[in-house]
Amino acid sequence: MSEPRRISILGATGSVGASTLDLIRRERDKWQVVALTANCQAAELARLAREFAAEVAVVADPACLGELHTALAGSGTEALGGAPALVEAASRPADLILAAIVGCAGLAPTMAAIEQGRTVALANKEALVSAGEVMTAAIARCGTTLLPVDSEHNAIFQCLAGNRGEDVRSITLTASGGPFREWSAAQLAAATPAQAVKHPNWDMGAKISVDSATMFNKGLELIEAYHLFPVGLDALRIVIHPQSVVHSMVEYRDGSTLAQLGPSDMRVPIASALAWPARMDTPCAPLDLAKIGALTFRAPDEELFPATRLAREAAYAGGGAPAVLNAANEVAVAAFLAGHIGFTRISAGVADMLARFAPAAPASLDDVIGIDGEARGRMRETLGIA
Ligand code: NDP
Repeated sequence: MSEPRRISILGATGSVGASTLDLIRRERDKWQVVALTANCQAAELARLAREFAAEVAVVADPACLGELHTALAGSGTEALGGAPALVEAASRPADLILAAIVGCAGLAPTMAAIEQGRTVALANKEALVSAGEVMTAAIARCGTTLLPVDSEHNAIFQCLAGNRGEDVRSITLTASGGPFREWSAAQLAAATPAQAVKHPNWDMGAKISVDSATMFNKGLELIEAYHLFPVGLDALRIVIHPQSVVHSMVEYRDGSTLAQLGPSDMRVPIASALAWPARMDTPCAPLDLAKIGALTFRAPDEELFPATRLAREAAYAGGGAPAVLNAANEVAVAAFLAGHIGFTRISAGVADMLARFAPAAPASLDDVIGIDGEARGRMRETLGIA
C-alpha cells in the first residue's frame, strides 16, 4: 500500500472543514493529518485533533490558546495560537492543504500554503478575490497546483479537463438565487438574519449563506472564476438555476456545452479535489433526475440583487477594487448578522464604498492586507459601528 498523504485543513471546524474530515474519516488509512486550524472553537478543534491524531492544532485567536492547551493535554498534538502560528502551520510540509477559512482572514495562511509549491484545494474564495494577481503570480512562481473546491469552480475545472482554453467560448456559473430569490423589494428590506442563513439547497456557514442571499456569493465567484480560468471577463456568465443540480457549464466554439451535475452536497467537489486526478467514493445519494423532474434556468435580476453587477464592475475596474468589495461586504455581512444594519444596506454600503475608495493595484501580500484593513475601517465608519 502507498504511503498516507499528508493533509492540512485550514478552517477545520467549519462547514467545509467538517465535510472534508467526514470523507477522510471514511478512508482513514490513506491520510496523515498534519495541521488542523480554527478561530476560537478550541474544544471542537481539540476533539478533531485527537480523533485524527493531528501533529499540530492552531487557534487563530490567541485568547483561545489556553483552552486548546488544556483540551489537548497528553494527546501528542502540539497546541499553538495566533496569526503567525496559523501561517507557520500552513507552511508545514503537506501533500495537500485545504484552504477553508472564511473571509480574508484566510489570505496569509493560504498564501503560505501556496508558497510550499505543492497542492492547495481552495474553498476560501475571499482570499483569491482580494489578492487576485498577487495570488495567481505566487501560484505560477511556486509551481503550485490549485484545485478549486467551490462547487461551481470545481464543476468548471472538471468540464475543462482534456480541452484547450482557446476553444472556450463562455463559462456559465449557476446560482441557486438563495432563499430570497422570489422576494419583492419590500420583503428584502425587512429580511432578518435568521431568514438569510436558511439556504434552500445547501447547508453552509453563516457568512456564505448571507452572501448567497444577497448574491454577493455569485459576485465573488465571478471574480474567482476570472482568476482561475483565463477566458476573460466578457466570457463569464451567471444564470439562476434554483434546483442546484447543474453546478456550472463550459461552452466551446463548436457549440458544445459541457456541464457537471451532482447532488447539492459539498462532499462531491471536495472528494474531487481530495482524489484528483483519480476519483473516490462518497456517501452522497446518487442523482435521481426523474425524481427531480425539471431543471430550470433564468437570468439574474441585477436591479433587486445588485451584487453581481457590483462584482463585475469591480473586476473590470481592477486595481484594489475587488479587495475593497470583499472587505466592505465582510464588514456589512457581520453587521447584518449582529442586527446592526438591514439586509439591503449590505449591497448599498458596498456600492457606496466602491464609489468612494479606489486604491491602486496591490503588488504584494502586504499591499492587499493594507487595502483590506483600510476598506474595513472606512466601512465600519460608514455603517456607524465600532
Ligand atoms: P464556516 O463559518 O462554517 O467555517 C469557517 C472556518 O474558518 C472555521 O473553522 C472558523 O473557526 C475559521 N475562522 C473563522 N474566522 C477565522 C479567523 N479570523 N481566522 C482564522 N480562522 C477563522 O465557513 P464555511 O465552511 O461555510 O466556509 C469556508 C470558506 O469556504 C468560505 O470562504 C466560503 O465562502 C467557502 N465555501 C463554503 C462552502 C460551504 O458549503 N460552506 C461552499 C463553497 C465555498 P471557528 O470555528 O473557530 O470560528
